[in-house]
Amino acid sequence: MWYQWNVLATLNGVSMKKDIHPNYYPEARVECACGNVFTIGATMPKISVEICSKCHPFYSGKEKVIDTAGRVEKFRARREKGATTAYQTKTAKRAKRAAAKQEA
Ligand SMILES: [Zn+2]
Repeated sequence: MWYQWNVLATLNGVSMKKDIHPNYYPEARVECACGNVFTIGATMPKISVEICSKCHPFYSGKEKVIDTAGRVEKFRARREKGATTAYQTKTAKRAKRAAAKQEA
């Protein structure tokens, strides 16, 4: 909502209760993690966000990994661990077992 009901109330000449409404900043500064900065009406003078309409894949049309709480890093670490640990295919295992049988 770009207008707040206290603005409407002022327009209508209705007085509001004192000390129960937060301060309204008509030009609050919003900073996104992508570097985009815009102003909105809010009750906080400054807001920082992780994603905005400039960088959200839905609006930008670009595919992008939205990483919250380092999940991408966790996945990469798991993948690397899996790549370094010895991995045998089923056929390799079967061949090894057959060789052991022949020796015995
Ligand atoms: Zn953004």
